[in-house]
Parts: sequence; structure tokens; C-alpha cells
Amino acid sequence: MYGRIVLSTVILCAALAGRLAFLPNVAHAAPAVGVCKLSISGDDMMRFDQTELKVSKDCPEVEVTLTHTGKLAAQVMGHNWVLMKTADLAGVATDGLGAGLPNDYIKPGDARVIAHTKVIGGGQSTAVRFALSKLTAGESYSFLCTYPGHSAFMKGVFKIT
Ligand code: ZN
Repeated sequence: MYGRIVLSTVILCAALAGRLAFLPNVAHAAPAVGVCKLSISGDDMMRFDQTELKVSKDCPEVEVTLTHTGKLAAQVMGHNWVLMKTADLAGVATDGLGAGLPNDYIKPGDARVIAHTKVIGGGQSTAVRFALSKLTAGESYSFLCTYPGHSAFMKGVFKIT
């Protein structure tokens, strides 16, 4: 009899613990509402599907998901998504050339890079999240793919609205 009570208590406690463990998860997920999600894709034709990305100034955090809709490997047709001031675009692209694939074609420690994803190949997807506080209202921002030869075609403007 006593054993049975202990057993039911254990089960009850486990059920409660399960519930309690569930509640903090919900609370923890709540701030994700403040993350504004953007998506962009690149293909085997060296193109992004968008030349302009917009985000509200009220977004505390931005998450950009890059999808490679092509079939070619990262070594042949790699794409990344790199954000910087428009004024820094050429410098980031040029310095990224020599950085190589292991550095995602971004000069290590490049302070001009505000956010970037890794280089991905066909069929892959990757994301980067950053605080919008890293950007200044009124400044002009651009994004590009720093894979060699791509930046002339794969670029666009990043607007805060
Ligand atoms: Zn590319």
C-alpha cells in the first residue's frame, strides 16, 4: 500500500516536473517574436532572388536565412550573405577574395562586416541573426555575396523602414 502511494507520488511529481519544464520553454521562446525574419535565395546563375531587403526599425533582432536553390557545390558556385555599409561594399568584396572558402571569403576580423552567413552550396540553407542596434538610421547598407566573381551580380540594398 505504502509502496503504491510512493509510486503514484513519483508519477505525479514527474507529471508536474514535465509541466513545469514546459512552461519555461514557452517563456523562453517568447522573445523570438521580436526577431524579424527575412529570406533570400541564390541560384546556380549567380543571382539573388531579391535586390532589396527591408526591415522595420522596430525589430530588435533580424534573422536572415539564405537558401541556395541551385545544385552546384560550394566550391564551384558558393553563396554567402554579407551585410555592410554601402560605402564598404567594394573593400569587403576585394579583401574577401583572398580569404578563401575556409574563411567564407571574408577577411578574418573584418570590422566592416556587420553580419554574414557562411558559404553554402546547392540545396543548402543557412541563417545569421544580428541586433539591429548595430545599424544606424539614415546610413546606407548593402548586402552581397563575396564568393569570387559574384559580388558584381549578387548584391542589393538593405533598408531600415
Ligand atoms: Zn555567390
